[in-house]
Amino acid sequence: MLSFDEARNRVLAGIQPLGESRTVPVREALGRVLAWPAVAGLNVPNHDNSAMDGYGVRMADLDPEQPTTLEVVADLPAGERLTVPLGVGQAVRIMTGAPVPEGCDCVVMQEVATREGRQVTIPSGQRPGQHIRAAGEDIRAGEAILPAGRRLTPPDLGLLTSLGFARIQVRRRPKVAVLSTGNEVVEAGGALLPGMVYDSNRTALLTALAGLGVKTVDLGLAGDRREAIETALARGAREADAIITTGGVSEGDYDLVKEILQQRGEVHFWKVAMKPGKPQAYGRLGGALFFGLPGNPVSGLAVFLLMVRPALLRLMGATDEPVRVLELPFRGEFSKKHDRLDFVRGVVHWQGAESWVETTGPQGSGILTSLSRANAFIVLPPGPRKLRDGDRVTVRLIDWD
Ligand code: AMP
Ligand code: MG
Repeated sequence: MLSFDEARNRVLAGIQPLGESRTVPVREALGRVLAWPAVAGLNVPNHDNSAMDGYGVRMADLDPEQPTTLEVVADLPAGERLTVPLGVGQAVRIMTGAPVPEGCDCVVMQEVATREGRQVTIPSGQRPGQHIRAAGEDIRAGEAILPAGRRLTPPDLGLLTSLGFARIQVRRRPKVAVLSTGNEVVEAGGALLPGMVYDSNRTALLTALAGLGVKTVDLGLAGDRREAIETALARGAREADAIITTGGVSEGDYDLVKEILQQRGEVHFWKVAMKPGKPQAYGRLGGALFFGLPGNPVSGLAVFLLMVRPALLRLMGATDEPVRVLELPFRGEFSKKHDRLDFVRGVVHWQGAESWVETTGPQGSGILTSLSRANAFIVLPPGPRKLRDGDRVTVRLIDWD
């Protein structure tokens, strides 16, 4: 059986980012992946400007020992500028954000200046360059400010706008198709006959995919009927860049997904030494990547988070994210015996240096509340382990978006 790390590396190594890109309005680019590095075409700020409401002066005019009185020759609210240089003995009234005139090399806060009619008196002790935001101090023209592969955040989009971009080139979003299998699985909204379960997997996966910023194709429910599964998968392979199925990848009599994939496509591997989520099927079907997840809701979603999500981010062209792990003291009790890497669902209580983690309670792979309550996995290596209060454990934070 492959170890979790080997399996994950194999999955990731098999992913080629989608090549195509699109031009989209910046305001519609949240979460999309930048296709080219964004290079600044101008300085930000674009001109030396005042960081304060006050008076713009020339240092050369100021007496270093005692107050100096200057003549106020203009009033500069933000958006207005003085087109002539500041002359000897002159000052301007200047507001935050207004460009400082040529020759002005110091802004004095209004609180320390004394104004009388057209005159202003400035105390000694001012420093050159004070309260002036220099042109290009945030960004210099020609500088690469966001790398290709960046998943764009709201401040990124603000930054691009500050540089005058209205539209940008982003990667095409992959299309991901989702199919549920299992004769017992039914659509919510209908009656739940004895022995049936509502299809929680497809809801969780379709919404997780939407949160990730990929397009989805809902292939619905196929039961455990070979023809229905084949038809749905053929549609997925035609329409999508990747297919995710749930259920039908273990060794039971009705586990058809892996069998169909073997016959119609290729299976790269299908067993991973992790818990939850041992049976999984990775491969290809036609031009589509194939991720066959286990049917148990916790297993399927854990495998999605740990394996499929990073693979899809790669497919989107996004730069790999660092895995967010930390060490924390454990509270409570927990024991395991099995030989698989364990991803115990946990809750991190954030209390600065006193932060700690506990399990979410019962850990059965069908207990979806364990994942719904979790904000992290407690990662325990293969082999027996007994946890007690105060033991330090490795914690891996859960990211859905
Ligand atoms: P399987 O992997 O097909 O053997 O399914 C394992 C368990 O997961 C069974 O108890 C199924 O009833 C349950 N299960 C399978 N698919 C779903 C689904 N889409 N939603 C909720 N539970 C499911
Ligand atoms: Mg099944």
